Amino acid sequence: MKVPFLDLKAQYFTIKEEIRLAIDEVLESQYFILGPKVEELEKNIAGYSHTTYAAGVSSGTDALLVSLMAIDIKPGDEIITTPFTFFSTAGVIARLKAIPVFVDIDPLTYNIDPDKINEIIEEKNKNSNARVRCIIPVHLFGQCADMDPIMEIAKEHNLYVIEDAAQSIGAEYKGKKAGSMGDLGIFSFFPSKNLGGYGDGGMVVTNNQKLYEKVKILRVHGSQPKYYHKIVGGNFRLDALQAAVLMVKFRYLDQWSQKRRDNAEYYNKRFKDSGLEKKFIKIPEPIYKHSQDKNYHIYNQYTIRTQGRDRLRQFLKENGIGTEVYYPLPLHLQECFNNLDYRRDDFPVSEEASSCVLSLPIYPELSEEQKEYVVKKIEEFYHTQ
Ligand SMILES: *Cc1c(COP(=O)(O)O)cnc(C)c1O
Repeated sequence: MKVPFLDLKAQYFTIKEEIRLAIDEVLESQYFILGPKVEELEKNIAGYSHTTYAAGVSSGTDALLVSLMAIDIKPGDEIITTPFTFFSTAGVIARLKAIPVFVDIDPLTYNIDPDKINEIIEEKNKNSNARVRCIIPVHLFGQCADMDPIMEIAKEHNLYVIEDAAQSIGAEYKGKKAGSMGDLGIFSFFPSKNLGGYGDGGMVVTNNQKLYEKVKILRVHGSQPKYYHKIVGGNFRLDALQAAVLMVKFRYLDQWSQKRRDNAEYYNKRFKDSGLEKKFIKIPEPIYKHSQDKNYHIYNQYTIRTQGRDRLRQFLKENGIGTEVYYPLPLHLQECFNNLDYRRDDFPVSEEASSCVLSLPIYPELSEEQKEYVVKKIEEFYHTQ
């Protein structure tokens, strides 16, 4: 049996007619950039995320970049974030010549550890040149970072918060939607995200009217009125074709995310019942050390800790099962950040995670047989050890 890591064709097959009609409509209109389709999507995403405003942009990365530009990040400003994330989160900081200040993660959730943010801010505040301006918590794999303590720290030290919710559209923290808690939130519509387009796309959401207006100006080269530039922006626009595809898929988002949650539930139960959990693997935990609440996890990834990760991965591959390692090298150890002077052992929790995490197929179209097969093969691997 084959179980690909992600099967976008299976999904396309279920919505093909609607997608083709939506694309045709855009072709008939010959309106390709921003415009009514993008506005329709913005309105829907803002409503869905419980925010007042949403601005469609060219990618999740550009959503982060334009958010940092909107809060006027200057060269030398410091921005606190996690080293255990997709490169983009820190890449945009470096591109503005600002400085990523990494803070280690909570081992249960893989998200930034608020207690450690406090420690680093206290240390920085001993130095009068400290320039911490912003925190970017990442809601990794589909569950929110521990936002209450993060927002408290931000308030106390007068910092902006930009939620990187690229992987977590629809996730909730204590009943609040991902993207609605900070000053700005961002989503990515990269095809592998829970709401994925047919190309690149992203969105900035906010309740702050001033920041919203600034993002809208920045995404068209800082132009306002047209051809008059008070600030320098970029081409960060979303295409109408992407918005049309995303509007079709948006209607299925909750149902697809629920299927991912059901798949995760299935894996969790099977791994516990078989005794693999705790002995050889560790299932993901939608909880926080500061709260009894369960988080509403939308499982963009189902990521387990494993013993003998690379051998397991190879074994699964030989048996037709696709897996991924998110992420094999934490950002503080990336060559392009050598200048930041981090060392191995600086962030032991992230480094340990990088050495043993494995993401399993979790997409909504997985069949019962496929899920069963994934569990069986993992059992087989550990039982023949
Ligand atoms: C996917 C992703 C991004 C970037 O989104 P793109 O649309 O690919 O530019 C940023 N942050 C995280 C955590 C992501 O997973």
